[in-house]
Amino acid sequence: MQTQLCDFCLKSGMLCSKCQDKLDSGAISKAYLDVAKKLISRENYYPFLQNVTLENISETESYLVLIVNKGDLRKFENEPKSTRELGNLFSKRILVLEKGVKDRKFLEDLFAGQHIVTINIIWLPDGTTETRVVLRGRGSRKLSKKRIQDLVEVANEVKNMNLRVEYTF
Ligand SMILES: [Zn+2]
Repeated sequence: MQTQLCDFCLKSGMLCSKCQDKLDSGAISKAYLDVAKKLISRENYYPFLQNVTLENISETESYLVLIVNKGDLRKFENEPKSTRELGNLFSKRILVLEKGVKDRKFLEDLFAGQHIVTINIIWLPDGTTETRVVLRGRGSRKLSKKRIQDLVEVANEVKNMNLRVEYTF
């Protein structure tokens, strides 16, 4: 796995001055370091991780979000069990999102398995925007209120996006 840190530092746990500086300056977080270490330790089970770049991580109460390089999400999707199994390591649901993608793609990945009917940007009186996403549930795969709240929180954390989610039938 490619990370913001040297392989050697990640594996040994002894940080070189360059990696230590990244941690001290806040360029990477302690949580990032911990997640990267744990993921690297699973490379033997999931060799595809060797070809993944972990750009950043983000956490909410329910989710650990792995922000990976463009094209890396597919590698996780090809091994559907991996995210569940890795989630057990962190006692959180894992969500994999790609860095630097357009909003539409970001939302499609965030609401994977749901059908996005429309996306509108609404300007609010205070000059900020709200992104309104209308989903169509597919039978039992409709997301719970709690899950939607969690994903709204993720969008806010990761992309500073103020989401409003609605279902249509
Ligand atoms: Zn280093």
